[in-house]
Amino acid sequence: MTYVILDLEWNGARSEKIGGYFNEIIEIGAVRLSEDGRIEDRFDAYIRPVVSRKLTRLVTNLTGITDDQVKKGVSFGQAMESLCRFVGEDAVVMTWSNTDLTVLMENCRYFYGDERIPFLSAYLDLQYYAQTRLGLGTAQQVALSKLAEQLELNSDEVELHHAIDDSVLAAAIFRQVYESSSFQKAVSPVNDEFYRRLTFKPTFIREIDDPLIRRADLRFSCEVCRHNLKRVGKWQCQHRFFTAVFRCAACGTEYIGRVQAKRKFDGVEIKKRLIRKMAEKEQETGGAT
Ligand SMILES: [Zn+2]
Repeated sequence: MTYVILDLEWNGARSEKIGGYFNEIIEIGAVRLSEDGRIEDRFDAYIRPVVSRKLTRLVTNLTGITDDQVKKGVSFGQAMESLCRFVGEDAVVMTWSNTDLTVLMENCRYFYGDERIPFLSAYLDLQYYAQTRLGLGTAQQVALSKLAEQLELNSDEVELHHAIDDSVLAAAIFRQVYESSSFQKAVSPVNDEFYRRLTFKPTFIREIDDPLIRRADLRFSCEVCRHNLKRVGKWQCQHRFFTAVFRCAACGTEYIGRVQAKRKFDGVEIKKRLIRKMAEKEQETGGAT
């Protein structure tokens, strides 16, 4: 099995064709690794932008890439053809967070009218995998350079935010965190479901009687005496959650019950919280009623 780590740089441009903002790829860097993590080959291509010929100052400052460099580059189509040959068949392709993958899909859609990435058959989000392996959790994304620093990997010789150098640095992280069985489990086959998952946008449910919310999700029990609470007011839909007033028939404690329902690819994620109402009132009025 071979592994390919891919990194892209792009320029934000307004596109007449799509009537909005477009992230046009201007550099593709990649390294191909052997089974034991050694870098076998490198790929680096500048791409001549056609949507916006001028790079934004933000991009030039971040990447050091100049208008002249990309002017001498190849077309997106030529770069993709060479990259397909470089990746070969059956390689596991990795990127640092799946943002690069999303941008690559966006470019394939723009230039080919098809968002599928031609050389992609198996994929792993290296950022997610590395953070899991290092016990850092996955709620916060850790930047490539920051993690390399934490692992005391030498990044002095590479220029950060230069696609090929970022790939080399990601390869050093890969060597540190790779473990065969967890890696195999984390690799996703690239099929219809893979693309559906990648493009899925989570949304908050705004209707309390949505069938995706179960009745049990809307019940609470008293924090004081454990009895089931009775709802004594209507559910209100606020920005991202529902709230209602609850009362314990046994001990009289009043609460605001809060429920958030987020529709994700694998189902609905429910978050619940109870806030004591009586305590608030006591504080405000000094306990007098
Ligand atoms: Zn109670």
